Amino acid sequence: MLRIQDLVKIYPGPVAALKGVSLEIPEGLFGLLGPNGAGKSTLMNILSGLLEPTGGSVTLDGVDIVKDPRAVWARLGYLPQDFGFYPSLSGAQMLDFLLRLKGVDAPQGRKALVAELLERVNLADAAKRKVRTYSGGMRQRLGIAQAIAGNPRLVIVDEPTAGLDPEERQRFYRILAELGRDRIVLLSTHIVEDIATLCPRFAVIRGGRCVTSGGTSDARKRLDGRVFEGIVQPDELERIRAAHRVTQAVLVEGSLFRTRVQGEPGSQPAGFVSVPPTLEDVYFGVMDESRAADAARASVPAFATATVA
Ligand code: ADP
Repeated sequence: MLRIQDLVKIYPGPVAALKGVSLEIPEGLFGLLGPNGAGKSTLMNILSGLLEPTGGSVTLDGVDIVKDPRAVWARLGYLPQDFGFYPSLSGAQMLDFLLRLKGVDAPQGRKALVAELLERVNLADAAKRKVRTYSGGMRQRLGIAQAIAGNPRLVIVDEPTAGLDPEERQRFYRILAELGRDRIVLLSTHIVEDIATLCPRFAVIRGGRCVTSGGTSDARKRLDGRVFEGIVQPDELERIRAAHRVTQAVLVEGSLFRTRVQGEPGSQPAGFVSVPPTLEDVYFGVMDESRAADAARASVPAFATATVA
């Protein structure tokens, strides 16, 4: 279990990137979702021991990561967003180099371990090719190979599918799904589909705060019967926006909008039909509520808060 309690990070500026995040992350795949600037990378960097938090605690199976990052490094695999490659090395040479840097134990010899890891991420055939000739997906898989060396308890992957084509994305999903069977895999992304495909549990962070967390299917079920869809003209969309909670409006064929609204059954605009809720509906709904709560807080005059307090 990875336990995060009241985590705060304030960068010089000051910029409050995390404002008290608490999460309990069990074994399996866990998705951390949020828009750019939400604080995901800051959280990932703290969890991987690269950055010290301003406050709060993180424990992995009871061991305090913040107090003793070294104790956790050996049990941690990390695939950061910007993974540095040496393009003139072959895949096998690059991996060998990274394993040496990481100080991974290889009782059967490093060469055998490199071969085993490359096999695991489907790169055995490309072992001797220069990394320069690898596709984005192949580079990501090489990154995963170094992350899983030493059989870590916790694997952290930051924005792993950005820039991958659909086929590479599917291949990468399969590797992550396999990894999640017997360890904690934390997947940070702004791509909702990644989480919907892979993660039974998830959290959404926005503005340095966790705005929701729990089971993905439970979150979808809670919206059952409350999501409606219709195809509308641009001027109609504006009228609907004025009276309903529009959570998505996607342009179709350049002129119409496939529009989703959330609300009580029966309250939907004419012609809208009830649709099965997706994780995107959950995400957009939660973001919408969180923005509305911010706006409400900002509009309360200071003296009113003082009176209530
Ligand atoms: P995400 O990964 O979700 O895009 P980040 O953790 O990168 O979010 O950033 C969270 C907030 O902290 C942003 O407002 C960002 O500008 C700020 N931030 C990130 N790194 C630094 C830094 N080194 N110094 C100051 N502010 C930072």
